[in-house]
Amino acid sequence: MDERQHLPILLVHGGAWAIPEEAKAAHEAGVRAALEAGYAVLERGGMALDAVEAAVTVLEDDPTFDAGRGSFLTSDGRVQLDALLMDGGRMKAGGVACVERLRNPIQAARLVLEQSPHVYFVGAGAEEFARSHGMKLIDNSELVLERERERLAQAQQRAAAGLADDTFSGEPDDKSPETAVGMLSHDTVGAVALDAAGNLAAATSTGGTLNKTPGRVGDSSLIGCGCYADNLAAAVSLTGWGEPIMKLVLGKWATDRVAAGTAPEMAAQEAIEYLYNRLGGHGGMILLGPDGRFGLAHNTPAMAWGVATPAGMRTGMRVEGC
Ligand code: ASP
Repeated sequence: MDERQHLPILLVHGGAWAIPEEAKAAHEAGVRAALEAGYAVLERGGMALDAVEAAVTVLEDDPTFDAGRGSFLTSDGRVQLDALLMDGGRMKAGGVACVERLRNPIQAARLVLEQSPHVYFVGAGAEEFARSHGMKLIDNSELVLERERERLAQAQQRAAAGLADDTFSGEPDDKSPETAVGMLSHDTVGAVALDAAGNLAAATSTGGTLNKTPGRVGDSSLIGCGCYADNLAAAVSLTGWGEPIMKLVLGKWATDRVAAGTAPEMAAQEAIEYLYNRLGGHGGMILLGPDGRFGLAHNTPAMAWGVATPAGMRTGMRVEGC
């Protein structure tokens, strides 16, 4: 933190994939609601960390997205959630993975960040930690939507008929349709913020990939993969097929480039190119530097995103090539 006042800024994303026409309005509305909640925190002089938590909480509560209630289901029909947030000023992080009984895993991650000497909890231990710090445990069925039961059944039928590759590796020689066009939905949510005190924060929350094997953890909640923040570098949140992103530790890769002097606009683009060129991966990212410059990039047909600054709010469905 330095002595100067910074212009606060908040960026959010609601996934990057071939978002169908009929789903675009819901994605934009969700992104806008998240910006409003998060930016209200920054406008009253609040912390970047509080802003990203508030924004992601709104997105977790919105069943449009693959986070919180309405998430994709595991192969055995349950919701298993992963979330991480990071405070780039204090260099503190908190994460949870494979939680099934929490409505807002990002709030559990915040409790880990603030209340624990540890950084990361999984499964029953994470739920017990959250419960012992005041969070309500719910039944997993409260997070499951009929829409997702049907989606899972269809995916499993396709897999049984050999029409889809749900064990996608993300390697360049993987010829599954998902590799080629990134058509599978990636509705993971995330936010990055810079507050008036000059601190950066990032948060990412997900239900993971459709039909995932129970216990699988993706990139979203792993430090430096789907989320990272450091005041001396940048703040980043990603979405996309997690396995290639994890192998490249792509969030940290991008923030390191900003620290080395690359503009965030360029670093985000380079990171997504690296994801594709090295491992044939698809995804998107939002990247925010300590000076308020930001970049967003994706190599999927669309990405739901929004930005709020003192000049106002902008949301969009950024399409490839823009
Ligand atoms: N990155 C997430 C995961 O692999 C999925 C997504 O972004 O949609 O768990």
